[in-house]
Amino acid sequence: MKKITVLFLAIAFGIMACDTNTDKQTSSHLLKVTAEEQGHIYLDGQYTGYTTPAKFKVSKGEHVISVTAEASKQYLRQELTISEDTELHLTMQDVPEPKVWKALWVGVQEVTGNSVDGQCSSSFSQEELDAGFDFFQWSIDNQFHPFSYNTTKWEVERVDITTPIELHKASNTWFTLEPESITELLPEVKPGNYDAVFVFWRESDGDCSFKSSYFGLAWTDPINDPIKTGYITIKFDAGDDINKNINWYKENDPGVWVHEWLHTVGENYFQDCGERLPEKGGDGLVLHAAEKYKYTYPWMDWYADFMSGRVKDLGAGNTYCGIGPEAFLKYTVRESALSQ
Ligand SMILES: [Zn+2]
Repeated sequence: MKKITVLFLAIAFGIMACDTNTDKQTSSHLLKVTAEEQGHIYLDGQYTGYTTPAKFKVSKGEHVISVTAEASKQYLRQELTISEDTELHLTMQDVPEPKVWKALWVGVQEVTGNSVDGQCSSSFSQEELDAGFDFFQWSIDNQFHPFSYNTTKWEVERVDITTPIELHKASNTWFTLEPESITELLPEVKPGNYDAVFVFWRESDGDCSFKSSYFGLAWTDPINDPIKTGYITIKFDAGDDINKNINWYKENDPGVWVHEWLHTVGENYFQDCGERLPEKGGDGLVLHAAEKYKYTYPWMDWYADFMSGRVKDLGAGNTYCGIGPEAFLKYTVRESALSQ
Protein backbone atom coordinates (compact mmCIF):
# COMPACT_ATOMS: atom_id res chain seq x y z
CA MET A 1 0.00 0.00 0.00
CA LYS A 2 2.71 2.41 1.04
CA LYS A 3 4.76 1.67 -2.08
CA ILE A 4 1.88 2.42 -4.41
CA THR A 5 1.29 5.77 -2.76
CA VAL A 6 4.93 6.77 -3.21
CA LEU A 7 4.86 5.77 -6.84
CA PHE A 8 1.67 7.70 -7.37
CA LEU A 9 3.17 10.81 -5.84
CA ALA A 10 6.25 10.51 -8.02
CA ILE A 11 4.10 10.37 -11.13
CA ALA A 12 2.02 13.28 -9.93
CA PHE A 13 5.14 15.40 -9.32
CA GLY A 14 6.49 14.38 -12.68
CA ILE A 15 3.38 15.60 -14.43
CA MET A 16 3.32 18.83 -12.47
CA ALA A 17 6.92 19.60 -13.26
CA CYS A 18 6.26 18.90 -16.90
CA ASP A 19 3.18 21.17 -16.92
CA THR A 20 5.12 24.01 -15.34
CA ASN A 21 7.71 23.78 -18.07
CA THR A 22 5.23 23.96 -20.94
CA ASP A 23 3.52 26.84 -19.16
CA LYS A 24 6.72 28.85 -19.05
CA GLN A 25 7.25 28.47 -22.78
CA THR A 26 3.79 29.67 -23.80
CA SER A 27 2.75 32.11 -21.04
CA SER A 28 4.18 35.13 -22.85
CA HIS A 29 4.52 36.26 -26.44
CA LEU A 30 6.42 38.87 -28.31
CA LEU A 31 4.46 42.05 -29.04
CA LYS A 32 5.67 44.59 -31.57
CA VAL A 33 4.08 48.04 -31.18
CA THR A 34 4.22 50.73 -33.85
CA ALA A 35 2.13 53.88 -34.21
CA GLU A 36 1.19 56.48 -36.77
CA GLU A 37 3.04 59.03 -34.63
CA GLN A 38 5.98 58.35 -32.37
CA GLY A 39 5.16 58.00 -28.71
CA HIS A 40 5.54 56.26 -25.36
CA ILE A 41 4.14 52.75 -24.98
CA TYR A 42 1.89 51.71 -22.10
CA LEU A 43 0.79 48.22 -21.09
CA ASP A 44 -2.42 47.99 -19.03
CA GLY A 45 -2.15 51.66 -18.14
CA GLN A 46 1.48 51.45 -16.94
CA TYR A 47 4.28 53.16 -18.85
CA THR A 48 6.68 50.47 -20.10
CA GLY A 49 9.72 52.72 -20.59
CA TYR A 50 9.61 51.95 -24.32
CA THR A 51 8.89 54.30 -27.19
CA THR A 52 7.60 53.26 -30.59
CA PRO A 53 8.61 51.17 -32.41
CA ALA A 54 9.43 48.53 -29.80
CA LYS A 55 9.22 44.78 -29.27
CA PHE A 56 8.72 43.28 -25.83
CA LYS A 57 7.24 40.26 -24.07
CA VAL A 58 3.64 40.32 -22.93
CA SER A 59 1.84 37.65 -20.94
CA LYS A 60 -0.90 35.63 -22.58
CA GLY A 61 -4.40 37.06 -22.10
CA GLU A 62 -6.28 40.34 -22.33
CA HIS A 63 -4.38 43.62 -22.33
CA VAL A 64 -4.75 47.31 -23.00
CA ILE A 65 -1.93 48.47 -25.25
CA SER A 66 -1.57 52.20 -25.76
CA VAL A 67 0.70 54.90 -27.10
CA THR A 68 0.85 58.63 -26.30
CA ALA A 69 1.24 60.29 -29.69
CA GLU A 70 3.78 63.02 -28.93
CA ALA A 71 3.23 65.44 -31.81
CA SER A 72 -0.56 65.62 -31.64
CA LYS A 73 -0.84 64.88 -27.88
CA GLN A 74 -3.43 62.21 -28.57
CA TYR A 75 -3.82 58.88 -26.80
CA LEU A 76 -4.09 55.77 -28.95
CA ARG A 77 -5.35 52.57 -27.36
CA GLN A 78 -6.54 49.08 -28.20
CA GLU A 79 -7.75 46.22 -26.07
CA LEU A 80 -6.57 42.88 -27.37
CA THR A 81 -6.08 39.27 -26.37
CA ILE A 82 -2.55 38.01 -26.76
CA SER A 83 -2.36 34.33 -27.70
CA GLU A 84 0.58 34.38 -30.11
CA ASP A 85 3.38 36.72 -31.23
CA THR A 86 1.59 39.89 -32.33
CA GLU A 87 2.24 43.09 -34.26
CA LEU A 88 0.08 46.06 -33.37
CA HIS A 89 -0.06 49.32 -35.31
CA LEU A 90 -1.98 52.14 -33.61
CA THR A 91 -3.50 55.00 -35.59
CA MET A 92 -5.73 58.03 -35.01
CA GLN A 93 -8.66 55.61 -35.40
CA ASP A 94 -7.68 54.32 -31.96
CA VAL A 95 -8.24 57.59 -30.10
CA PRO A 96 -10.91 57.01 -27.39
CA GLU A 97 -13.73 59.40 -26.46
CA PRO A 98 -12.24 61.79 -23.86
CA LYS A 99 -13.63 61.90 -20.34
CA VAL A 100 -15.46 65.15 -19.59
CA TRP A 101 -14.14 67.06 -16.57
CA LYS A 102 -16.12 70.07 -15.40
CA ALA A 103 -14.63 73.23 -13.98
CA LEU A 104 -16.35 76.24 -12.50
CA TRP A 105 -14.20 79.34 -12.70
CA VAL A 106 -15.28 81.98 -10.20
CA GLY A 107 -14.17 85.57 -10.65
CA VAL A 108 -14.48 87.50 -7.40
CA GLN A 109 -14.89 91.24 -7.89
CA GLU A 110 -14.39 92.35 -4.31
CA VAL A 111 -13.03 90.87 -1.12
CA THR A 112 -13.22 92.62 2.24
CA GLY A 113 -11.46 91.68 5.43
CA ASN A 114 -9.42 92.68 8.37
CA SER A 115 -5.90 93.13 6.98
CA VAL A 116 -2.85 93.87 9.14
CA ASP A 117 -3.65 97.54 8.54
CA GLY A 118 -7.31 97.18 9.45
CA GLN A 119 -10.56 96.64 7.58
CA CYS A 120 -10.21 97.14 3.83
CA SER A 121 -11.14 95.70 0.46
CA SER A 122 -9.47 94.71 -2.80
CA SER A 123 -11.26 94.63 -6.14
CA PHE A 124 -10.89 93.48 -9.69
CA SER A 125 -12.46 95.29 -12.62
CA GLN A 126 -14.37 93.37 -15.27
CA GLU A 127 -11.34 93.60 -17.62
CA GLU A 128 -9.01 92.26 -14.94
CA LEU A 129 -11.30 89.30 -14.28
CA ASP A 130 -11.43 88.67 -18.04
CA ALA A 131 -7.62 88.61 -18.11
CA GLY A 132 -7.56 86.10 -15.23
CA PHE A 133 -10.09 83.90 -16.97
CA ASP A 134 -8.07 83.99 -20.21
CA PHE A 135 -4.99 82.94 -18.23
CA PHE A 136 -6.93 79.95 -16.88
CA GLN A 137 -8.19 78.97 -20.35
CA TRP A 138 -4.63 79.25 -21.64
CA SER A 139 -3.56 76.76 -18.98
CA ILE A 140 -6.39 74.36 -19.89
CA ASP A 141 -5.30 74.47 -23.56
CA ASN A 142 -1.55 74.31 -22.97
CA GLN A 143 -1.30 72.08 -19.90
CA PHE A 144 -4.47 70.30 -18.70
CA HIS A 145 -5.39 68.92 -22.12
CA PRO A 146 -1.96 68.03 -23.57
CA PHE A 147 -0.54 66.64 -20.28
CA SER A 148 -3.49 64.21 -20.16
CA TYR A 149 -3.00 63.49 -23.90
CA ASN A 150 -6.52 64.79 -24.39
CA THR A 151 -8.05 61.93 -22.43
CA THR A 152 -9.71 64.73 -20.44
CA LYS A 153 -11.95 67.31 -22.05
CA TRP A 154 -12.52 70.25 -19.74
CA GLU A 155 -15.88 71.96 -19.92
CA VAL A 156 -15.45 75.32 -18.27
CA GLU A 157 -18.22 77.51 -16.86
CA ARG A 158 -17.56 80.98 -15.54
CA VAL A 159 -19.42 82.98 -12.96
CA ASP A 160 -18.43 86.35 -11.52
CA ILE A 161 -19.45 87.26 -7.98
CA THR A 162 -20.34 90.94 -7.68
CA THR A 163 -21.34 90.89 -3.99
CA PRO A 164 -18.31 91.72 -1.80
CA ILE A 165 -17.09 88.60 0.01
CA GLU A 166 -15.93 88.90 3.59
CA LEU A 167 -12.86 86.87 4.53
CA HIS A 168 -13.78 84.50 7.35
CA LYS A 169 -12.26 85.47 10.69
CA ALA A 170 -10.80 82.01 11.31
CA SER A 171 -8.67 82.26 8.19
CA ASN A 172 -7.63 85.82 8.92
CA THR A 173 -3.96 85.16 9.55
CA TRP A 174 -3.42 83.58 6.16
CA PHE A 175 -6.15 85.51 4.32
CA THR A 176 -8.05 83.05 2.22
CA LEU A 177 -11.47 82.45 0.74
CA GLU A 178 -12.84 79.26 2.25
CA PRO A 179 -15.15 76.96 0.24
CA GLU A 180 -18.06 77.92 2.53
CA SER A 181 -17.81 81.56 1.42
CA ILE A 182 -18.35 80.41 -2.16
CA THR A 183 -21.05 77.78 -1.56
CA GLU A 184 -23.09 80.32 0.42
CA LEU A 185 -23.34 82.42 -2.72
CA LEU A 186 -23.26 79.65 -5.34
CA PRO A 187 -25.59 76.77 -4.37
CA GLU A 188 -24.74 75.05 -7.69
CA VAL A 189 -21.39 74.11 -6.15
CA LYS A 190 -22.54 70.79 -4.73
CA PRO A 191 -21.42 67.16 -4.97
CA GLY A 192 -21.55 65.79 -8.50
CA ASN A 193 -21.77 69.11 -10.36
CA TYR A 194 -18.11 70.02 -10.81
CA ASP A 195 -14.74 68.30 -10.63
CA ALA A 196 -13.04 71.49 -9.57
CA VAL A 197 -13.88 75.06 -8.58
CA PHE A 198 -11.22 77.69 -9.28
CA VAL A 199 -11.67 80.97 -7.39
CA PHE A 200 -9.76 84.02 -8.64
CA TRP A 201 -9.45 87.13 -6.46
CA ARG A 202 -7.17 90.05 -5.82
CA GLU A 203 -4.38 89.89 -3.26
CA SER A 204 -3.62 93.61 -2.87
CA ASP A 205 -5.30 96.80 -3.95
CA GLY A 206 -3.59 100.09 -3.13
CA ASP A 207 -2.85 100.08 0.61
CA CYS A 208 -5.07 97.05 1.22
CA SER A 209 -3.08 93.82 1.31
CA PHE A 210 -4.17 90.26 2.01
CA LYS A 211 -0.72 88.96 1.20
CA SER A 212 0.51 85.87 3.03
CA SER A 213 2.97 83.04 2.40
CA TYR A 214 1.05 81.58 -0.56
CA PHE A 215 -1.02 82.82 -3.43
CA GLY A 216 -2.45 79.57 -4.73
CA LEU A 217 -4.10 77.17 -2.35
CA ALA A 218 -5.90 73.87 -2.90
CA TRP A 219 -7.90 71.48 -0.74
CA THR A 220 -6.29 68.04 -1.03
CA ASP A 221 -9.06 65.53 -0.30
CA PRO A 222 -12.13 66.55 -2.31
CA ILE A 223 -14.24 63.44 -1.77
CA ASN A 224 -13.97 63.80 2.00
CA ASP A 225 -14.81 67.52 1.97
CA PRO A 226 -18.47 68.56 2.32
CA ILE A 227 -18.60 69.89 -1.26
CA LYS A 228 -16.95 66.71 -2.68
CA THR A 229 -15.37 68.93 -5.32
CA GLY A 230 -11.80 70.04 -5.91
CA TYR A 231 -11.38 73.55 -4.46
CA ILE A 232 -8.67 75.98 -5.52
CA THR A 233 -8.14 79.65 -4.81
CA ILE A 234 -5.73 81.86 -6.69
CA LYS A 235 -5.08 85.08 -4.80
CA PHE A 236 -3.43 87.00 -7.58
CA ASP A 237 -1.00 89.87 -7.23
CA ALA A 238 -2.14 91.98 -10.16
CA GLY A 239 0.20 94.90 -9.48
CA ASP A 240 -0.42 97.99 -11.63
CA ASP A 241 -0.98 95.94 -14.76
CA ILE A 242 -2.54 92.49 -14.50
CA ASN A 243 -1.58 91.58 -18.07
CA LYS A 244 2.07 92.32 -17.36
CA ASN A 245 1.98 90.06 -14.29
CA ILE A 246 0.13 87.27 -16.09
CA ASN A 247 2.70 87.39 -18.88
CA TRP A 248 5.47 87.16 -16.32
CA TYR A 249 3.92 83.93 -15.01
CA LYS A 250 3.37 82.54 -18.50
CA GLU A 251 7.03 83.06 -19.31
CA ASN A 252 8.64 82.13 -15.99
CA ASP A 253 6.34 80.01 -13.82
CA PRO A 254 3.40 78.93 -15.98
CA GLY A 255 2.07 76.04 -13.87
CA VAL A 256 0.02 77.94 -11.27
CA TRP A 257 -3.41 76.54 -12.23
CA VAL A 258 -2.30 73.01 -13.00
CA HIS A 259 -0.19 72.88 -9.81
CA GLU A 260 -3.10 73.77 -7.54
CA TRP A 261 -5.51 71.50 -9.39
CA LEU A 262 -3.10 68.55 -9.14
CA HIS A 263 -3.13 68.95 -5.34
CA THR A 264 -6.87 68.20 -5.47
CA VAL A 265 -6.47 64.92 -7.38
CA GLY A 266 -2.87 63.89 -6.71
CA GLU A 267 -2.73 63.81 -2.91
CA ASN A 268 -5.59 61.41 -2.13
CA TYR A 269 -8.13 61.11 -4.92
CA PHE A 270 -6.36 58.98 -7.53
CA GLN A 271 -4.61 56.98 -4.78
CA ASP A 272 -8.06 56.10 -3.42
CA CYS A 273 -9.04 55.02 -6.96
CA GLY A 274 -6.18 52.50 -6.78
CA GLU A 275 -3.54 54.34 -8.82
CA ARG A 276 0.11 54.40 -7.77
CA LEU A 277 1.37 57.97 -7.48
CA PRO A 278 4.78 59.31 -6.40
CA GLU A 279 5.79 59.30 -2.75
CA LYS A 280 5.16 62.32 -0.55
CA GLY A 281 7.64 65.17 -0.44
CA GLY A 282 9.30 66.45 2.71
CA ASP A 283 6.28 68.58 3.66
CA GLY A 284 3.89 65.64 3.36
CA LEU A 285 2.52 66.65 -0.04
CA VAL A 286 2.91 64.38 -3.06
CA LEU A 287 2.94 67.24 -5.53
CA HIS A 288 5.84 68.86 -3.67
CA ALA A 289 8.07 65.77 -4.15
CA ALA A 290 9.38 67.05 -7.50
CA GLU A 291 12.91 67.67 -6.25
CA LYS A 292 13.12 64.23 -4.66
CA TYR A 293 12.45 62.83 -8.15
CA LYS A 294 15.13 65.14 -9.65
CA TYR A 295 12.84 67.61 -11.42
CA THR A 296 13.67 71.30 -11.52
CA TYR A 297 11.86 74.65 -11.34
CA PRO A 298 9.43 75.64 -12.83
CA TRP A 299 8.44 71.96 -12.68
CA MET A 300 6.59 71.72 -15.99
CA ASP A 301 8.13 68.31 -16.81
CA TRP A 302 7.08 67.15 -13.37
CA TYR A 303 3.44 68.11 -13.96
CA ALA A 304 3.52 66.47 -17.41
CA ASP A 305 5.05 63.21 -16.13
CA PHE A 306 2.86 63.26 -13.01
CA MET A 307 -0.23 63.42 -15.20
CA SER A 308 0.97 60.93 -17.83
CA GLY A 309 2.21 58.34 -15.33
CA ARG A 310 5.84 58.66 -16.38
CA VAL A 311 7.56 59.65 -13.13
CA LYS A 312 10.42 57.16 -12.76
CA ASP A 313 10.22 55.39 -9.42
CA LEU A 314 13.02 56.03 -6.93
CA GLY A 315 15.47 53.15 -6.69
CA ALA A 316 16.98 50.84 -9.26
CA GLY A 317 13.83 49.44 -10.88
CA ASN A 318 12.62 50.47 -14.30
CA THR A 319 9.08 51.30 -13.21
CA TYR A 320 7.00 54.45 -13.37
CA CYS A 321 4.20 56.06 -11.42
CA GLY A 322 1.72 58.91 -11.76
CA ILE A 323 -1.91 59.28 -12.77
CA GLY A 324 -1.79 58.17 -16.42
CA PRO A 325 -4.22 58.38 -19.35
CA GLU A 326 -6.13 55.18 -18.48
CA ALA A 327 -6.97 56.56 -15.03
CA PHE A 328 -8.12 59.85 -16.56
CA LEU A 329 -10.46 57.91 -18.87
CA LYS A 330 -11.88 55.93 -15.96
CA TYR A 331 -12.53 58.36 -13.13
CA THR A 332 -13.80 61.86 -12.40
CA VAL A 333 -14.27 63.53 -9.03
CA ARG A 334 -17.89 64.26 -10.02
CA GLU A 335 -18.75 60.63 -10.62
CA SER A 336 -16.92 59.49 -7.50
CA ALA A 337 -18.82 62.06 -5.44
CA LEU A 338 -22.13 60.66 -6.62
CA SER A 339 -21.24 56.98 -6.40
CA GLN A 340 -20.17 57.27 -2.77
ZN1 LIG B 1 1.61 73.31 -3.86
